This record gives sequence, structure tokens and C-alpha cells, in this order.
Amino acid sequence: MEIADLTHQELHQALQTHFGFDHFKDRQENIIQSLLRGKDTFVVMPTGGGKSLCYQLPALIMQGTALIISPLIALMKNQVDAIRGYNDEDSVAHFLNSSLSKTQARKVKEDIRAGKTKLLYVAPETLTKEENIQFFKSVQVSFVAVDEAHCISEWGHDFRPEYRKIREMVEAFEQEVPIIALTATATPKVSSDIKKNLKIEDAKEYTSSFNRENLYYEVRPKKNKDQAIREIVQIVQSMDGESGIVYVQSRKMTEEIAKALKVNGVKASPYHAGLEGKTRSRIQDQFLMEDIDVICATIAFGMGIDKPDVRFVIHYNMPKSIENYYQETGRAGRDGLGGRCVSFYSHADVLKLEKFLRDKPVAERELGAQLLDDVIAYAETGGCRRKYLLHYFGEQFDAENCEKMCDNCKHPKEKQDVTDDLGLAIRAVLELQENYTIKTLVNFLRGDISQKQVSLGLDKKELYNQGAEHSETYWYSILRQATVHGFLHKEIEEYGKLSVTPKGNSQLQTPEPFEIPINHDFEKMIQENDARGPSKGTALDPTLLNMLEDLLERESKRKELPPFVIFQEASLNDMATQYPTSMSDMERITGVNKGKARRFARPFIDLITEYVEENDIDTPEDFVVKQVANKSKIKVEIIKGTDRKIPLEDIGSANKLNFEELLQEMYMIVLSGTKLNIDYYIEENVDEYAKEEIYDYFLEAETDSIDAAFQELQDDDVTLEEIQLVRIKFLSDLGN
Ligand SMILES: [Zn+2]
Repeated sequence: MEIADLTHQELHQALQTHFGFDHFKDRQENIIQSLLRGKDTFVVMPTGGGKSLCYQLPALIMQGTALIISPLIALMKNQVDAIRGYNDEDSVAHFLNSSLSKTQARKVKEDIRAGKTKLLYVAPETLTKEENIQFFKSVQVSFVAVDEAHCISEWGHDFRPEYRKIREMVEAFEQEVPIIALTATATPKVSSDIKKNLKIEDAKEYTSSFNRENLYYEVRPKKNKDQAIREIVQIVQSMDGESGIVYVQSRKMTEEIAKALKVNGVKASPYHAGLEGKTRSRIQDQFLMEDIDVICATIAFGMGIDKPDVRFVIHYNMPKSIENYYQETGRAGRDGLGGRCVSFYSHADVLKLEKFLRDKPVAERELGAQLLDDVIAYAETGGCRRKYLLHYFGEQFDAENCEKMCDNCKHPKEKQDVTDDLGLAIRAVLELQENYTIKTLVNFLRGDISQKQVSLGLDKKELYNQGAEHSETYWYSILRQATVHGFLHKEIEEYGKLSVTPKGNSQLQTPEPFEIPINHDFEKMIQENDARGPSKGTALDPTLLNMLEDLLERESKRKELPPFVIFQEASLNDMATQYPTSMSDMERITGVNKGKARRFARPFIDLITEYVEENDIDTPEDFVVKQVANKSKIKVEIIKGTDRKIPLEDIGSANKLNFEELLQEMYMIVLSGTKLNIDYYIEENVDEYAKEEIYDYFLEAETDSIDAAFQELQDDDVTLEEIQLVRIKFLSDLGN
């Protein structure tokens, strides 16, 4: 090992010569000096902070070859190309992994032996091969850089067992080699695990703050696909052609969301591992060149891409861990300007992720569940999201300094004084001997424990059931906030058991007032929506929706028509989201066409116009979200067919629809206000008496549900199919 002691000036000169930059970012210079002096070095630096330069520059300056251990073979080539881009000779950087042929590998080793190669990227698996160890023993290694070092720790989110053998390999080189470990995401637990495993406990440590002041964090409830997609379209449209990424869990949804964006005039593209390599790199290029504004991607996107002016990152699904969330949202606003981070949260998504964990080995499953638990806590917190994130990464942060850059600080929930209950919670942790997780503690306080816990005698404890008058959400809020504020500590190694800190103990002696916002109860918010009816998406303006519902009821009485003949729930819902104030606006509402608008919409338009004026609501025209209309061609064929009185069976088979599907399509057509005359078919196929019965039924009915009609009419010997046919006629006659 050779120690290179460069002056500040010499180092700047080297930076200029090798990379053309005239100054270092943040702590880069100190880190590089530490490594040049032969010291083990540990770097925690958020993505985009300039991590790779910390080992690239010393590698170019020092004698010998630096080994860069990197987890992804796919990225090595990019990294090597990037370095070669600054140099005359390709031999300056190589990678050595299983993708090389024997001849290629031999050439790499020749260049190293000849002293031409300064950086060699290797996967940990390559290092463990005996022939390679023998080789590195015979050449000069300047240092070993372990990139993405969180992979070492089983507490990191992408643990790789081979990573744990690095120290052993380096010792086998039989030369003194400093190690630099770098990671963009490390909780205190992960950091200490990395250092212990690499035996660099005495390393010089450089941690940059994880605070990204320019990012705005927001979490919204996700009720269902349609509502989430609609809100995504609205967010993207409000961003005015800026670059953004929508992260989605499944390939299929990347396609679907990209499509929804495209029909709404956004330059969007899906991106996932199922696409060909060529297509993927073309999409990346188009994104960089701004021919594409929005990428709808599975997590495969973004690694190795450094577009500085990504203005928003949307998560259609919550990620599996806070590390992932931080890294993915971190791709917004790298240029220091604004970045908007919106995530959609539903409990159903979390359950799905938990299901994936079920097939994993026990240890991985337990860790996965804990990581997920932190994601849930983050989503549900009513406190500052920035404070929560930074606490997760081991940083203290005063929520005062958030500057309203998260939804909870911008629209603060009312705070509640919970001083007494904080005391109760801390005492409960102590009474249960710091041996239980948050879930058990909540159940314990609420007197709602499992059989097994009863058999352990938990129900005999003094504090059992002492917090029964409060909800689960309430106790989760207190226990989680108590952890974030340092009264309690979560033992990650011990499966998340809670223990009491000295601060917690002194709170018991001399209680200080403690006020917290109670968590969002997304489940409840979603259920409240559900209770209003299954066909409803989420209206953005519940007040207006209520007014519209009242108006619909009045109109229904006045016109003596069932309400659903006038407007469907879905249409009202859409109106309460889009504020149509003219006939042409109205025609763009779900389930409303020109005819229907002219016939029924006037009083609704008047009400909305008045409401918009009174409440000073902006209704930008481009807020109209269009649905993907891939079925429109079939609809046209059906209308033409019935005009020509073609038997329905034939229309169905010509359009590859079975009879059931055809009836459903026809129902959708008449719902949106288009006339469809199928009298010719009904005359031949529906008993006259049954037709009358059904028609009369719908005139009186509260809903147009087929099932409800069948319940009512089945004693009259009416079939489901007859009901469907007559319903089409009924809606066509009255609604249009
Ligand atoms: Zn905040």
C-alpha cells in the first residue's frame, strides 16, 4: 500500500485533470484524503451526493489497481464506460465477472499486470474464486471499495450473503489494503453491521445528512385503481410537462397507467424488466432527451440514471421498505429545485406484500415484516414525514424546520395532549419487561390479546385493558410517536421489541407535556367512502357531492323518473371531481353524452357554477381526465348492428362477445346516454307479460341493479336475461 499525501491544491488539480470539475461536493474532499492516507473509510451519502467520485479519483491517483465491489453486473458496464469516457485508454477501467469469455478475462488480467488498469469492477462472487484470489495476491491492489455496502447487512433491504465474505477475501491477498465502504441508505443498525463485518470498526466515518429540503412528501389514500389513476393523471397534468416517474409494483399496471396518461395528452411510457434491452435503453434515452416526460416503471428503472430535473415521483404502490421509498423519492429534485413525492397507500397493497413474504425463509420473512411495518407507520403518521424519515436513518430533526414541506406540516392535524397516556404506554412497556412489539402492546392496553398471551398471564397484569376506551389507531400513534421522540426504542435485532430509553424513564419521574397529532386512519377513510355505494369512485369534493345527490333526488321526484335514469352515481362523483360548468364540460363527464346532458344537466350545471363561484374554486380545463377508450370501436359496431335490426347473437359473435358480454356493453352504451333500439329483438324473445312487469318494476325501483330486480321478480317467472334486455330498453327510452 502506498500513501499519497496530496495538498488541497494538488487534489483540486487532480479533480480538474481527471474529471474536469473545479470543486468538490460536500464531504468528498475529506473522504478522498482519508482514503489516500490509507485509512479505512466509511461513507453514508444519499443518492446523488457524488458517492462514486470518492473512490474513482483516489483510484486514478494511487499506485496499483482499486477493486470496486458492486452488486449488479448489469451496471458495471455503465460504470466502466463512464470512467473510460474521461480517459484516452480503455484499459484504465475494466470489469471482471461471469459475463466475460476466457479470452476477455485474460486480457483484463494482462492490463492489470501491466499497471494500466486503475479501477476493476468485480462482483463479490468473482472475488471468491480461488484463481482470482491467487491473481490478486500477485498484483498491487491500491484499495477495495465496497459500493452499495448495505448489501452486507442482513438488516439492509437487499442483503446478499456473498457480501459477507469480503473481509476474508481481502485478507487472502496478503497485502495491506484499506477498505472504503459506501452506501446511500443505512440505518444506524445497518451501519454498525457493515463495519463489524468488514472489520473496519475504527474507520473514519463520513455521514451526510439525509434531509432533502427541496422534496415535498405526501401520502394519499388509495381506494381503488380508478381513483388512484385519476388522481395520478391530475397530478401529472398539473405539473405542466415536467419530468416525472411513477413507480408501480406490477408490469401490467405500468402499461395501464402509461396508457391512461397518454390518452390524456401526456408523453408517457411504461418501463419494466419484461421489455427488451434495446427498448429499455431507447426509453431511457427518450426520457433523458425529454421526448418522454413520464416513465411508469417497476423498480427496475432509475438505477444508474441521473436526470437532475425530475420534478415528481409518484408511488402507485407503497414500496417494501423505507430505504426503497427514500431512494426512489430521492430521484426527484436532484438539481436542488422542487420535487413532489406523492404515494398512494392502501392496506390491501400492504397485505399483498405480506403475502409475498410468506414463501420466504423465516428470518427473511420476519425482517420483511418489520420493514413493512415501518412503511405502514410512515404512511399513517399524522406527524411530520420528514422527521419520521430522518429518525429512521438515525438523524435528529426538528419538525419546525420542515417549512411545511410535507402534507402533515402543511395541513396539520389538530394535536392532542397525550401526556398521561404516554406515561401509561411507557409503564406498559416496563410491565411487560420490554419483551413485546408494538402490536402486542396496543392489544394489551386495549384488553384484546390472543389465547397464547392469556396463557402467558398477560391478562393478569395491572395495566391490562387500562386503555380500552381508546382506538387502536390512538395507541399506535402514541407508541410510534414515543419512539420517534426517543422515549422508547425499537430493538430491530430483537424483532422490533420496544424498550424504554433514559428519556422515557425521566418522563415517568417528571412528566413533560406531550402533544401529538393522531394518525391518519386510511382504512376508516376508505370504508366511509365505501359505505356510500360500491359504484362510486372517490369524489374530490364531498361537500359538492352531497349537494349533487340532494339535487338528483329532487329532480328524480320532479321528473318522476328513478334517479339512476337521470345520472348514475359514477357521473355525480365525476362532477364533484371535475366541476363541469358548461354543456360541453358536462359531455366529458363519465356516463354523460350530448343527449343526456341536454336533457338532464341544466340544473346540475347551475348548481356547480354557483358553488364554484361561491367557493372560489379553480377549474382548469385541462383537469379533465379522459378514460382509456379501447372499446369504442365495438360500441359503434353494436349501435350500427341494432340500427340494422341484426339479431343480437350475430352482433355478439361478429364482435367476439358472448351474449352476457354483449348485454353488458349495451347497458354501458345506454347508460352513457346513447339510444339503442332493441324492440325488434325483445318482441321476438321476451314474453309480453314479463316485459311489462320488468318495465314497471324499474319505473318504481331505487336502483337499476339486476340482482335486486331478480329478487323482486323471480316469482313471476322472469329470467335474468329478460331483465337485462328490458333494462336496456328502459334506460334507452327514459334516459335519452
Ligand atoms: Zn413536515
